[in-house]
Amino acid sequence: MQRFSGLSLLRRGLTGQRGWQPQWRRAEPKPAYDALIVGGGGHGLGTAYYLAREHGLTNIAVLEKGWIGSGNTGRNTTIIRSNYLFPESAALYDHAVKLWEGLSQTLNYNVMFSQRGVMMLAHTVHDAQVAKRHVHANRAAGVDNEWLTPREAQRFCPLLNIGDIRYPVVGAALQRRGGTARHDAVAWGYARAADALGVDILENCEVTGIRRDASGAVEAVDTTRGTIRAPRIGVAAAGHTSVILAMAQVPLPLESYPLQALVSEPVKPVFPCVVMSNTIHAYISQSDKGELVIGAGTDAYTSYTQRGGPHITNHALEAICELFPMFRRMRMLRCWGGIVDVTPDRSPIIGKTGVPGLYVNCGWGTGGFKATPGSAHVFAWTIARDEPHPLNAPFTLERFRDGNLIDEAAAAAVAH
Ligand SMILES: Cc1cc2nc3c(=O)[nH]c(=O)nc-3n(C[C@H](O)[C@H](O)[C@H](O)COP(=O)(O)OP(=O)(O)OC[C@H]3O[C@@H](n4cnc5c(N)ncnc54)[C@H](O)[C@@H]3O)c2cc1C
Repeated sequence: MQRFSGLSLLRRGLTGQRGWQPQWRRAEPKPAYDALIVGGGGHGLGTAYYLAREHGLTNIAVLEKGWIGSGNTGRNTTIIRSNYLFPESAALYDHAVKLWEGLSQTLNYNVMFSQRGVMMLAHTVHDAQVAKRHVHANRAAGVDNEWLTPREAQRFCPLLNIGDIRYPVVGAALQRRGGTARHDAVAWGYARAADALGVDILENCEVTGIRRDASGAVEAVDTTRGTIRAPRIGVAAAGHTSVILAMAQVPLPLESYPLQALVSEPVKPVFPCVVMSNTIHAYISQSDKGELVIGAGTDAYTSYTQRGGPHITNHALEAICELFPMFRRMRMLRCWGGIVDVTPDRSPIIGKTGVPGLYVNCGWGTGGFKATPGSAHVFAWTIARDEPHPLNAPFTLERFRDGNLIDEAAAAAVAH
């Protein structure tokens, strides 16, 4: 692993950065591995890293159809928090927050995790009741969350308009340990650390088929770079998971929707925290580059277009301009979409499938970035031991058959 002093960084900058090493090898696919991970987003790369580091499985590969981080990991608005309603969810997401807190050190890679606080606005009496229920449930479960009056909310975020507006602010829930991280760095950091442990990262390697043996267990995948054999296959492909699982005849209760975000021209630091509103599907923070990072809602219909309806972003911007009038004159630089995979109860699926050797990590919908280290950690455990970690044991595929739902839907109109 390369380390540079300040002087050597300066010298490299002035000499055209000659001699820098790639951060991971350009691996060629081997005919067989002990395990394969499909999807080179944060969840897939993290899973490979924990498989190698904590379970000693180093003869493994991550198969990514594009470049790593080209899916939702590199498209999201990076909000991290753990104040979900049900104890199962809060425990899983808080496991992730704890791992986030040490991730830069663990990976020796600056993922720019910034605990600047996530404030969730309430605009109606109903919002306030829901938010207070979350605050009480979280505190009972040992997860920080607090209720703020409108004045306190404005003190925390001075640009917030709490006047007589279309979306009045009647209070807010604040998780101070919440915040943001640099999305690309998460993919790159896990990739570099996994590669250093011997994991092959195979980009431009699309999985086109899953082969099963006579007993029904997985035995190989067909890819655009050839057939690769493995007795264990973990799929973490976000919005495309149901397409891949269909290759093994496993139906999933998922719907895939485009979700959009946009960024403004960069300005000096003006926005100290993250503010989100589930009711109006809008949320905002400021990146270290100075851009306002603004998120909108999902389209109302399913599709794989990676771009959504313009009226959705307009709606989010109208709300942002009311809540933060000083941003009315900002110019938006670009917007984009990602395909999110939504379950009926808005909670993820992490576990075994009915097919021996086939594991799935999906259903994160609009809010899986925050879970990346925690989800990857427990998914690696599940693949290595062929049994769930206690934290993902409730998040089975069978819960949709058995009715043991973890219904975060009401709280997660937008689940960031
Ligand atoms: C606009 C937007 C904003 C969001 N904001 C937030 C937020 O603020 N906070 C939050 O917590 N979450 C947010 N999310 C959700 C979050 O981005 C995702 O839940 C999370 O990044 C999923 O990570 P992943 O690694 O599972 O998937 P991805 O990063 O999408 O990785 C899956 C990978 O699988 C690859 N793949 C697909 N099919 C194949 C195939 N056949 N063969 C090989 N590879 C394949 C894809 O190319 C992709 O790289 C947002 C999402 C979007 C789109």
